[in-house]
Amino acid sequence: MLSLYDVIIVGGGIMGCSTALELAQRGLSVALFEKRTIGEGPTGRSSAIIRQHYSNELTARMALHSLRVFQDFEEQVGDECGFTQAGFVVLVEEKDRAGLEANVELQRRLGIRTELLSTEALGQVLPGMEAGDLVAAAYEPDSGYADPYLTVTAYARAARRAGATIYQDTEVGRVHLEKGRVTGIDTKEGRFGTPIVLNCTGAWAARVAATAGVGLPIHSCRVQVAFFRRPPGHEAAHPVVGDFRNAIYFRPETGNITLVGLIDPAEENAIVNPDGYDERMDTDFVLDAGERLVRRYPAMEESVSTGGYASLYAITPDWHPIVDEVPAGSGFFACSGFSGHGFKLGPAVGVMLADMVTGAEAPLFDPHLFRLARYGEGQPVRGQYEYSIVG
Ligand SMILES: Cc1cc2nc3c(=O)[nH]c(=O)nc-3n(C[C@H](O)[C@H](O)[C@H](O)COP(=O)(O)OP(=O)(O)OC[C@H]3O[C@@H](n4cnc5c(N)ncnc54)[C@H](O)[C@@H]3O)c2cc1C
Repeated sequence: MLSLYDVIIVGGGIMGCSTALELAQRGLSVALFEKRTIGEGPTGRSSAIIRQHYSNELTARMALHSLRVFQDFEEQVGDECGFTQAGFVVLVEEKDRAGLEANVELQRRLGIRTELLSTEALGQVLPGMEAGDLVAAAYEPDSGYADPYLTVTAYARAARRAGATIYQDTEVGRVHLEKGRVTGIDTKEGRFGTPIVLNCTGAWAARVAATAGVGLPIHSCRVQVAFFRRPPGHEAAHPVVGDFRNAIYFRPETGNITLVGLIDPAEENAIVNPDGYDERMDTDFVLDAGERLVRRYPAMEESVSTGGYASLYAITPDWHPIVDEVPAGSGFFACSGFSGHGFKLGPAVGVMLADMVTGAEAPLFDPHLFRLARYGEGQPVRGQYEYSIVG
């Protein structure tokens, strides 16, 4: 046995790193193992949009908590996260109008600054964008996006300062359970002992769980983003947009660039080996994303394609995460499956998981919604929209 820790975290994305900080700050001895380098996985390639538009009170509260951390990141985490308050607009058709209105009402009740926009007001928030096909829109002035790599590496540095040990280039090959309790993990360096292991490995989570004989319904799915340089006369940054009609999201990026990704439930069909998939973007994807963008933002007809890439979503049957001790009482916690919307929840997830591990008397967030058993009980998380993929 090489060392003993109170808690071992597997995975150096935003969930693992924010939880490492939270637990180390509470005085536990923590080790985090990342098989590549911190942020090299999907977190570092996230579009990192930070919005609060959710259908469930729990996720909306977690998004609001996290937004406040992103806004005050230097003070709270001690480093930069590149948060840009660009504002967020969600655009829907008639079939989603009621869902949008219900979500806005829920958010306002929770203290989130958001409002429904008239067509005229929409023209002011999104000048130059097509709005004739829409029936409803909502606007969150405080939302925006961050730099995902800066964010996750800042969390890792802060966790180290708080006393956590971080092992990079160190894959966890197996999680050991004896008599139903976690005893340690194996790495190429040898065995490390612990009574608690947190599986924060995203798209790899089902594999890591399987080494302990635990099944998780989490698939590794390939998704893409594309970049387009805005043409002369349209250099000004626009807000972040979630466009349900064209099934895309887009946001500004440094250098007059607009980053585009899909809001498409079919992405769950692109199941790939997370250690062996094509990380380049497809030409077909660029053409498709570009056409959808032009439908909303006609000036982008003159834009220039400037690349893109593919990465991974860790997708569950309802596109919501599993944050649960499985099996109960084992000391083995799953915290994965955030699909396409986990980055913005990262700060709150660290608190949620640390409260679970330490048995906090008054946990800030109730993890019940994210229990694994919900699938067997026929109680998946449901959203207000036809697709629950946006939450
Ligand atoms: C293209 C894209 C765009 C996105 N856009 C947004 C967005 O706009 N807003 C938003 O909120 N969310 C977004 N998301 C989702 C969000 O980025 C993810 O939900 C979040 O980053 C997941 O973080 P994680 O820590 O769970 O997992 P990951 O970032 O996947 O980290 C898991 C880590 O575990 C490591 N690992 C795996 N197996 C082992 C092992 N055996 N031993 C040691 N280490 C291991 C991996 O190398 C990896 O670094 C997007 C995701 C992608 C891919």
